[in-house]
Amino acid sequence: MFEQLKEKPADKILALAQAYREDPRADKIDLGVGVYKTPEGVTPIMRAVKAAERQLWEVETTKAYTALTGDPAFLDAMVGLVLGEALARDQVSAIATPGGTGAVRQAFDLIRMVNPGARVFVSDPTWPNHLSILAHMGIEVVMYRYFDAETVGVDFSGMMADLDGLRAGDVVLLHGCCHNPTGANLNMTEWQAVVDLLNAKGALPMIDIAYQGFGDGLEADAAAVRYVAVNCPETLIAASCSKNFGIYRERTGILMAVAQDRALQRVAQGNLAYLNRQNYSFPPDHGARLVSMVLTDDALRADWQAELEEVRLGMLRLREQLAGELRRLSGSDRFGFIAQHRGMFSRLGATPEQVERLRAEHGIYMIGDSRINIAGLNETTVPVLARAMIDVGI
Ligand code: PMP
Repeated sequence: MFEQLKEKPADKILALAQAYREDPRADKIDLGVGVYKTPEGVTPIMRAVKAAERQLWEVETTKAYTALTGDPAFLDAMVGLVLGEALARDQVSAIATPGGTGAVRQAFDLIRMVNPGARVFVSDPTWPNHLSILAHMGIEVVMYRYFDAETVGVDFSGMMADLDGLRAGDVVLLHGCCHNPTGANLNMTEWQAVVDLLNAKGALPMIDIAYQGFGDGLEADAAAVRYVAVNCPETLIAASCSKNFGIYRERTGILMAVAQDRALQRVAQGNLAYLNRQNYSFPPDHGARLVSMVLTDDALRADWQAELEEVRLGMLRLREQLAGELRRLSGSDRFGFIAQHRGMFSRLGATPEQVERLRAEHGIYMIGDSRINIAGLNETTVPVLARAMIDVGI
């Protein structure tokens, strides 16, 4: 049977990481993989997470299975973190999933189960895994315009024009905050217009939120998701705990299905549990338990929020520094977008040739579409990147 298998192309981001590791240059800079790093280049375990882990070691007495939907305390805590007080708890179905990717996959599974003909509209560009999972599942994809290479911001009129092609039952995938890979985001007025259009078309919003707390703060980053969930009849929300709790390898995420109609919510809950059962049965628990411990203990939560805020402000300072350095070197404001973008990423708008020159001539590694991980920089490397960008003609 295996002779039928075809070689799969290597994941581009992981291949880049490999090339970086093999580069002997001491002053190389890694702006590739999407993992938060301190200025010293380490991905730390957050203080509150470590403290919760120590407590857990003391108090955990069994490794017996949790519920099929995951630990209810985790679900409640995460529904609270993402949706706040926007909805009643009995309007939200939820399952714990292996990471945000697991939540995305389960959401697509639910969509396919309910409406095999549904098309999923995704932003151009989007996180490549959205596209590869959709292709793997045989779900039809429609790209909507999102990024304006000219302004290096959102092409909102193009986006709305493309969403005008929606049919009832189609799904629109939106990034809740900190768009990956561009860093360019909708403002609240634009979100409202999108919601009005989706409701007029009878389309379902699916929101992927993987960076809550990395943009404008925990509450501000959730404002759009909450607006959509309150104002659409139904909403799917895939949230990841990988970045904001720094627990990447623990595989912790949640899929929420919001329904204004409580009877539908109950059916949705049963179907989400069913999907967990079919795909992996019980979801992983360790990371989920740490998250619920941190969120429900006042002291741990305060410490976590303080550390997350340090992370967020550190990345904003790097954005300001890079934009300022480029303003000085280029004598123009054309790089102001770097300070406007939010989250861990910015797309610089460079050509593949320029990206390749940055790697070959300057040892600076970024994704081929010129996405940089801001957290890969520090105060010392920002001027190096700025000079190299000017040198290759960006
Ligand atoms: N969605 C987006 C847009 C992401 O960038 C990521 C992380 N790269 C995820 C979902 C899911 O991440 P994870 O499965 O590691 O939680």
